[in-house]
Amino acid sequence: MPKRREVAPAAAPLREPLHPFVGQQHVLEYFRRLGPQALAHAYLFSGDRGVGKRTFATMLAMTLHCERPTGFPVGYCGTCGACRRGLAGSCGDTILVDLDFIRETARVERKTDALHIDASRRIIELMQLQSYEGGRLVCIIPDFDNVTPGDYAYNALLKELEEPSAGKLFLLTAHRPDRVLPTIRSRACGIRFGPLSEDEIAGQLERYYGQPAQRARLLARRAQGSLGEAIREFDESVMELREATRTWCLQTLQSPKRTSALPRLSRDNAREEAVEVLRDARLVIRDLLMLSLGQEEHVLDRESLTQYKAASATLEEEGGPTKLVAALSSVNEAARIADETNIPPATVLGWLQVQLKSA
Ligand SMILES: [Zn+2]
Repeated sequence: MPKRREVAPAAAPLREPLHPFVGQQHVLEYFRRLGPQALAHAYLFSGDRGVGKRTFATMLAMTLHCERPTGFPVGYCGTCGACRRGLAGSCGDTILVDLDFIRETARVERKTDALHIDASRRIIELMQLQSYEGGRLVCIIPDFDNVTPGDYAYNALLKELEEPSAGKLFLLTAHRPDRVLPTIRSRACGIRFGPLSEDEIAGQLERYYGQPAQRARLLARRAQGSLGEAIREFDESVMELREATRTWCLQTLQSPKRTSALPRLSRDNAREEAVEVLRDARLVIRDLLMLSLGQEEHVLDRESLTQYKAASATLEEEGGPTKLVAALSSVNEAARIADETNIPPATVLGWLQVQLKSA
């Protein structure tokens, strides 16, 4: 007989308030038809970053635990005891395996944030307890594609996923589902989340993030289907990094003989920031390419249009579209290196700098 929880264990509160879920109608429809009783024991939500995979997982868990749900899969009341605990991040029946969870469970200081054996053991331990709210235990593991196959953690979890139990639900998310081992994929029901439309993103920014209509539109366009990306623009350090990336890119392409300062990466979060820099560099070069091909209407970052036009004029003398196509493929190659190797992020950016200069 599994031990019953006496108190709901404390967990980190949610960083963002939960706004009504937007988009992914096919996902909502699928679960609506299925109903709460027919849920499988594990799902793998795949799709780009910032399209609602983790938000949906959180909302589904809250709805399952809610005492007076008004609908399914998203229909928690927001006011009952279970909902209040859920919103405060202290619902004992939802285990969110985020960075805090991973860092807290590590017995030794670790350099990586990958799911390790201690975290994995803790998940299994927690999932073996009985539900506190009297319903189903839900374990949400975001970025499951980061769990390296062959890890002890992976094997232990695989075993857990092999033994479906009515009282447990695993919700895994991955933006690169191809990296999740087939053995896991075959045990979890795969659900694909698509990019959001500009209307869906702009509407959400206007209604819940206080953005005037025009600005909401600009941000939505630049976000390329990811609400998460759009929201990140409200973070000052993200904005600074984006500015620095834009300046660096434009200067390097316009005056290859001068050395412009590389965007500075923080010590703690260098890998993620390098991914951001490369994403933004791709956006800048893509927009410059559109301009040089005479397709101004396809420029995504409308706020930088004036700056881009000025740069574009100089670039015409420097090789124009050919140079930009070469630059774009260098950025893609840098992104691949950053993603697939352990080369330090600053070194990858340095390599890209050399490529852009010689493009
Ligand atoms: Zn409720």
